[in-house]
Amino acid sequence: MTDTLTQSTRRQWLATTAAGLAGSAVAGRAELASAQAQPPAASPLPLTEFEPKSMLHVAMTTVQGARFPVIDFHTHVSRRRATRPPVPPAELLKTMDAVNLRTMVNLTGGFGEDLSATIAAFDRAFPRRFLSMTEPAWTRAAEAGYARWQADEIAKAKAAGAVGVKVLKTLGLYLRDGGPTGKLVRVDDPRFDPMWEACGRLGMPVAMHVGDPEAFFLPIDRFNERYEELHAHPDWSFHGKDFPGNRELQEARRNVMRRHPKTQFVCLHVANSEDLPYVSECLDSHPNMFVDIAARIGELGRQPRTARKFFDKHQDRIVFGTDASAGTSTPQQTFGDALYEIYFRFLETEDEYFDYAPAPVPPQGRWRISGLGLSEQILRKVYRENAARLIGIPA
Ligand SMILES: [Zn+2]
Repeated sequence: MTDTLTQSTRRQWLATTAAGLAGSAVAGRAELASAQAQPPAASPLPLTEFEPKSMLHVAMTTVQGARFPVIDFHTHVSRRRATRPPVPPAELLKTMDAVNLRTMVNLTGGFGEDLSATIAAFDRAFPRRFLSMTEPAWTRAAEAGYARWQADEIAKAKAAGAVGVKVLKTLGLYLRDGGPTGKLVRVDDPRFDPMWEACGRLGMPVAMHVGDPEAFFLPIDRFNERYEELHAHPDWSFHGKDFPGNRELQEARRNVMRRHPKTQFVCLHVANSEDLPYVSECLDSHPNMFVDIAARIGELGRQPRTARKFFDKHQDRIVFGTDASAGTSTPQQTFGDALYEIYFRFLETEDEYFDYAPAPVPPQGRWRISGLGLSEQILRKVYRENAARLIGIPA
């Protein structure tokens, strides 16, 4: 059948076909007549108002606290320029203690004075509970002598207490040479080589977000599985213009990992969570590669058998992370007990078909997830041991 058939022609066609299969042309005509006689349907419910409740009678396990102490490797809890307010440490600690979260790694600690202020307010004020990473000064990337200066800044950040370097998707999707209309800077641009090398020399892991969900690189149309999310955040789309494809971005990061084998890279958001065979192949080829699961249990949990095998195989290089931050515009990241309970339920239980975010409508796509039921050995590694090894703290 072609797409050009209208709904009513399609309904008639289905009615006559079904009747034809039943072997009675008379029955077919009668059914067609009755289909045509039905009153017109009420106007359709807007998708935004649709909140279907699952009727499945399946296990519902509440996991209020993690089975083992946790390091959340991926959070954004300090002030982030004008965009996000900080979450007060006292509020953080209350939830951390309630859910068995021992340590939070705050990835976006900034650099220079911002970094020092963040470390004073979090890391130094509450030792072992908060750790911060620094960020490159992208605005200076076009200046002469940047490469050496940036490498030295990383060393200064380490001396100030930073435990790693966070690279936002700025690199590859926003940063341009010569202003807003200039050429996008490539992820594997050689000017950053001294910085990647410094990270390896200093034992600072690089937490690197490159690319985004595959649907963000496709038209925002009725075929796009993240239509509602992109409709709510149209600026998250990287379709068209001069944006590279998602695979091209992933491959550029692989070039960086290849060129700097002594530097450890944590590819955030499971690197490319829709394509676990590809990520698995990358992990096989790059011993210096790790992944975190932040804001991607919605992807992992809708392919639970593939994800479970992925955790079995790469159990030494997967770290726990949530992307937790203040604010409610992205419920899959909103810091609080409810967020952690979902993550723990996903990793620890074999519950089926539950929400991946504390929200009335699944915010990243209209599907639900199933738990992985990981073994205690794998849970220990993913919750804490792998991250502790990366950032050099006792497991
Ligand atoms: Zn993040």
